[in-house]
Amino acid sequence: MTARYLLSDEEQTIRDVAKRFARDRLAPGYQARDQHDSVIDRGLLAEMGQLGFIGAELPEALGGLGLPCATAGLITETLGYGDFNMAAMAVTGSLIGQIIADNAQPELAAEWIGRLVRGETILAIALTEPRGGSDAANLQVSARRVDGGYCLNGEKTSITSADQADAIVVFARTGSVEERARGISAFLVEGNSAGITRTRFRDIGYRAPGRGSLFFDDVFVPDSHLLGKEGTGFIQVMQGFDYSRALLGLLCLGSAQASLDETWAYINEREAFGQRLADFQGVTFPLAEYETQVAAARSLCYHALQLKDAGMPHSAEGAMCKWLGPKTAYDAIHQCLLSTGHYGYGEDTPHQQRLRDVMSMQIGDGTAQIMKMIIARDQAKQAASRT
Ligand SMILES: Cc1cc2nc3c(=O)[nH]c(=O)nc-3n(C[C@H](O)[C@H](O)[C@H](O)COP(=O)(O)OP(=O)(O)OC[C@H]3O[C@@H](n4cnc5c(N)ncnc54)[C@H](O)[C@@H]3O)c2cc1C
Repeated sequence: MTARYLLSDEEQTIRDVAKRFARDRLAPGYQARDQHDSVIDRGLLAEMGQLGFIGAELPEALGGLGLPCATAGLITETLGYGDFNMAAMAVTGSLIGQIIADNAQPELAAEWIGRLVRGETILAIALTEPRGGSDAANLQVSARRVDGGYCLNGEKTSITSADQADAIVVFARTGSVEERARGISAFLVEGNSAGITRTRFRDIGYRAPGRGSLFFDDVFVPDSHLLGKEGTGFIQVMQGFDYSRALLGLLCLGSAQASLDETWAYINEREAFGQRLADFQGVTFPLAEYETQVAAARSLCYHALQLKDAGMPHSAEGAMCKWLGPKTAYDAIHQCLLSTGHYGYGEDTPHQQRLRDVMSMQIGDGTAQIMKMIIARDQAKQAASRT
C-alpha cells in the first residue's frame, strides 16, 4: 500500500500513523460521506489536525511542523488511500497555507495558519470566474481602493468549499485589465464579511468539499488583509499551484492504489472456468500495467516535491504530476472496476466513487491542456537557452 520510495525512520513513523488513521478513521465512512449536500466532517478534520496531517510543511513559527514537502506528499498519498475528499483538505491546507504563510502580515498569518493546521477551519481559494478558469489572468472581480482598505465586487465560481469556508483567499483586480496578471492582488476575506453570498453546486464527485459560487457585493477588506504587495497575487497563486499539483497527483494515486489492492484481493478469491481469476493473464496483465504506471507517476510526484524541498524550479514537473497523476489514477480505477465485474459496477464497491472523485482533479487546479502548455513552455525555453 502507498509509497514505496525509501523512507527515513521519521517518515516511516509518520506514514504508519497516517496509514492507521486512513484505515480506521477515514476509509469506513468514505462512501457514507459521498452524499449530495454532505459537508466536510469538521470532527475528522480536527483529528487530522491533531495528528499534524494538515500543512505539515508549514513553518513551525506559525504552528506547522516544518517538515519537508515530500513528507506532506507522503501524508496526502496515504490519507488519499482511505478517503480522497478528507485527504484533499490536507492539500488545500498546504496550498492556501503556503500563500498565507509567505504573504500575510505576521499576526494574520499566525492566526489563520494556527487554526488551519489544527484542523479548526476550512479555507477556500477563489480564482476562477464565470467567463473561464484556464485563462486565469483574465479575471474581472475588482478590488477598489477605499478608506482603510479595499471594496470587492464581482463573482467567483467553481470554488471548492465555497459554502463552508471560514475565510477565502480571493484574487481580484487592483490594476487595469490591460495589466493582466500584474494587475491582480490577493486578499484574505473572512467568510462572515458583509456583502458575500454563497451558492452550492450539485456535482458527480468530490462532494463533501463541494463547489459553489461566491458573490461579492461591496465587500470591505481591511488593508491588513492584503496578501503581499498589490499586483503580486497572480504570482502567489501560480507558485502555490507548482507545489499543490504534485500533492494532487499523489492524492489521486493513493486513491488508485486502494482500488488496485482491493482488486488483487478480489481476483485471488473469485473463480471462473474452474480457476482463480488471478490465474488468467488476461486479468492480471492490465493490473500489472497499472501498478507500473501508478508507481512511475508516484515517483514523478516525489521527484517534483524533492525539487521544491531543494529550492529548485519545479513548475514543469508540477504540471507533469497534475496531468499524469489524475489521468493514470482514473484509468487504473476504471480497470479495477471492470476487473471486479458486475460487483464493480454497483455502488457497494468504492471504485465508482473513486472514479468520480479522482475525475475532479482532471479539471480542478488546471486541466490537462493547461498542464501541457506549462510543460511545453518550459521545454521551449530550455531549448532556446541551449541555442
Ligand atoms: C472539482 C473542481 C474543483 C475546483 N476548485 C476550484 C477552487 O477551489 N478555486 C478556483 O478558483 N477554481 C476551482 N475550480 C475551477 C478550475 O480551476 C477550472 O474549472 C479550470 O481551471 C478550467 O477552467 P474552466 O472550467 O473555466 O474551463 P475553460 O477555461 O472554459 O476550458 C474548457 C476546456 O477548454 C480547454 N482549453 C482552454 N484553453 C485552452 C487552450 N489554450 N488550449 C487547449 N485547450 C484549452 C480546457 O483545457 C478545457 O478542457 C475547480 C474545478 C473543479 C472541477
